[in-house]
Amino acid sequence: MFSLYSDTKHKMGLKSKILIIGGTGYLGKRLVNASLAQGHETYVLRRPEIGVDIEKIQMLLSFKNQGATLVTGSFSDHQSLVEALKQVDVVICAVSGVHIRSHQILLQLKLVDAIKEAGNIKRFLPSEFGTDPAKMADALEPGRVTFDDKMVVRKAIEDAGIPFTYVSANCFAGYMVGGLCQPGHILPSKESVLLLGDGNKKSIFVDEDDIAAYTIRTIDDPRTCNKTVYIRPSENILSQREIVKLWEKLIGKQLQKSSLSQQDFLNIMKGQGYAEQVGLTHYYHVFYDGCLTNFEIGDGAEEASALYPDIQYTKVEDYLKQYL
Ligand code: NDP
Repeated sequence: MFSLYSDTKHKMGLKSKILIIGGTGYLGKRLVNASLAQGHETYVLRRPEIGVDIEKIQMLLSFKNQGATLVTGSFSDHQSLVEALKQVDVVICAVSGVHIRSHQILLQLKLVDAIKEAGNIKRFLPSEFGTDPAKMADALEPGRVTFDDKMVVRKAIEDAGIPFTYVSANCFAGYMVGGLCQPGHILPSKESVLLLGDGNKKSIFVDEDDIAAYTIRTIDDPRTCNKTVYIRPSENILSQREIVKLWEKLIGKQLQKSSLSQQDFLNIMKGQGYAEQVGLTHYYHVFYDGCLTNFEIGDGAEEASALYPDIQYTKVEDYLKQYL
């Protein structure tokens, strides 16, 4: 039933109406911009709870000025979510999932209930956009909570028979490239760098605007229905050492290097607060385990840069230039 709808729309070149939830967030605002840029009728949830948060209000107004429609709705008002959903074809949720900011992944269970009742949603993209949680069954505490919660949401979506796309976006460049892969850093030093282990594990880095552009492209594409889409642009599959080397080339200077063993990393992690430990667990799996690159993309999944080769993604070297 769904694929018929999707195929027909695809062939006719019609673009789905999209509701973005979490639209004022770090990734959410990029999703709104990409949706508008790709010509979708774009709706953005305005939660009454944001109150007098002037930054959010101003951002929402700027979306409206660019052509988006603001829809009032709250996770604590089921009917308001149902009414918002009824106006669109597709819903993309980008609620927070980074503990040092906020972690609201399970709120999406309420959204799943509302999608079931609305009955018209042709595709749901839940708040994922990171490491594929399905590959993280053996992740360490406490960071595994992110993956476990995302899997709870996946189960609810699949149990309800809601058509979905899960976007596995790997490392947001702003966090990882900016800080040369060092936890607690988002700007690159011109003096020194701490390597995680030998610094040779390969990871994948994606500009957040590119994540948004790829994500929006998936929604009317029948090839991505009920699949995971990994964003793995080939030139951005790099180790920490390779990123450092690119930076050294740009600044014309070698950084002083030291290294943190796996065991020392774990020891340091244990002394941190809960939110920091969650984040550090993610760094651990990416940079000591190589969890982003230690598997092939198999059946039931797609790779975004292969699906949409016309998107000129930002290469890590170019991303680094902004810090000069
Ligand atoms: P943000 O922390 O920027 O939050 C996004 C939005 O969530 C907020 O702007 C707000 O939207 C909404 N929100 C926050 N708190 C609440 C609440 N209590 N009730 C309802 N809505 C709330 O999120 P990010 O953009 O950082 O994260 C989005 C996704 O990306 C997550 O799944 C996260 O795990 C993933 N991620 C991946 C990274 C990677 O390297 N791969 C790095 C960072 C995030 P509004 O006020 O507009 O309603």
